[in-house]
Parts: sequence; C-alpha cells; structure tokens
Amino acid sequence: MKKIALVTGGTRGIGHAISLGLRKDGYEVVATYHGNEEAAQKFRDETGCDAVKFDVANYQECEKAVQQIESAHGPVEVLVNNAGITKDGMLHKMPEENWHAVIETNLTSCFNMCRLIVPGMRERNYGRIVNISSINGQKGQFGQTNYSAAKAGMLGFTKALAMEVAAKGVTVNAICPGYIETDMTTNMKQEVLDSIIRQIPVTRMGQPEEIADLVCFLASPNAAFITGATVAANGGQYMA
Ligand code: NDP
Repeated sequence: MKKIALVTGGTRGIGHAISLGLRKDGYEVVATYHGNEEAAQKFRDETGCDAVKFDVANYQECEKAVQQIESAHGPVEVLVNNAGITKDGMLHKMPEENWHAVIETNLTSCFNMCRLIVPGMRERNYGRIVNISSINGQKGQFGQTNYSAAKAGMLGFTKALAMEVAAKGVTVNAICPGYIETDMTTNMKQEVLDSIIRQIPVTRMGQPEEIADLVCFLASPNAAFITGATVAANGGQYMA
C-alpha cells in the first residue's frame, strides 16, 4: 500500500533534501511551496512528485490544500513541518508585520497543518510528525527575536502534542538544525558566515542531506519509542 509523506517547503533547501530522502524510503511525497514556481517545477520534473502551492500561515488555504492532497493521494502518514522564513532585525527597529509573518509562517503553520492532519492519524492509530525548529530557538540569536521565539515555540508545541497523541501510535519530534547550506544562509554576508563557521566545532556548515537523514529515521516505524524529543544537528555549535 502506498504511504504518503507531506513536506511543507519541500521544493527547496532542507525540505527538498527531506522530500528526496522520504521518496527514497518508499513514500509518495507531496511537497508544498509558497511562491517560487521555478523551484517547484524543477522539483516536479526531477522527482515526478506533486508540488502544491499554498500559504502554510493561512488556515483556510491549508484546509483546502490538505483536503485536495488527501483526496488525490490518500491519507498523510508522515508530516514534516519544514516551511520557514526569517525577517531579521533588532527588536527596537522591528516592524510589527515582521514579527507576525515569522511567528505565523514558522509556528502557527505547525498548528494549522497538525490540526488538519492529526485527526486522521489518530483514527488510523499511526502517524509521524517532524517539526523543523532551529538552533536559534534553543540558544536565541541577536537580531532574531521573532525567529527565536517561533522556533522555541515549536519545541513546546512538539512536546505537548507528543503527549496528546502518544497512545494513538503517533510520534511528534523536533529537529534543531544548526547552520545548513541553503538559500536561507548563502544569502548572508560572507563575513557573517565566516564568523558563524568559527563557532562550529566541526568547522563547516551542514548539508541539507544531513538533516534529511535524521528526518527519515524519525519518520520510520523503527523510531516508535522516540517522541517529544528535540534532536540537535548543529556540528557541536550548541550543546543543550
Ligand atoms: P529555504 O528558504 O531554502 O526554503 C524555504 C521553503 O519554505 C521553500 O520551499 C519556501 O517556498 C517554503 N515557504 C516559505 N514560506 C512559506 C509559506 N508561507 N507557505 C508555504 N511555504 C513556505 O529554507 P531552508 O531550507 O534553509 O529552511 C528550511 C527550514 O529549516 C526552515 O523552517 C528554517 O527555519 C529551518 N532552519 C534552517 C536552517 C539553515 O541554516 N538553513 C537552520 C535552522 C533551521 P518557496 O520556494 O515557494 O519560497
């Protein structure tokens, strides 16, 4: 029987690697995206997988999309809440909309997607949810009150939901990547990147595949005893 995995923000960056990893593990992957049509089309051409456009921050759009995806492909067995954005700036200069955009895209999106998909997982007595948080949700980061709050919020969300669904065969875990080479980080100034790399004991940034492998394990039936966990993959930069 086919198994469906839904990866938000699954057409680019870390999400792209997660989509490929889950596909390799035998899942029929549906990736979502927000606006980058070129990356989405490249993903469709390369993988043959479906890529669906909607805003994970908008509950009504999520509801419509989840209904469409589940009727076209089947019930979602694995949900990876990966879509995320940054809008950095010091708090005393941060426009209110940058606070809301980052909280809603990174954190409220987890509520939206889980609220729609968890009832089916509970009924079927099986599910795997992996939330992609961040090292900066664990340690805080200068210029990222919005992002650090959203990513820390995801950790509390993960633990609370894990308790609620554990007896139903559903696991919920969070991964906190350190700095990973994607569009999100390669757009940073070189001197900022150099100073970050100096803080990483393994002396390099991570690769998207290094996060994808972890997601694939947590998404597998073998990870049934791991739930409510926060798993760091940061090259030793922050040891919580
Ligand atoms: P990218 O910027 O490379 O990709 C982000 C993905 O999320 C894209 O597919 C994008 O769609 C999608 N997306 C963004 N906003 C929305 C939205 N409102 N609705 C639907 N989809 C959306 O990010 P990364 O791969 O670098 O990051 C992936 C996750 O990992 C994020 O949650 C990020 O916070 C987290 N992370 C990243 C780290 C890093 O170093 N890169 C470190 C720690 C955590 P589109 O292509 O259409 O724009």
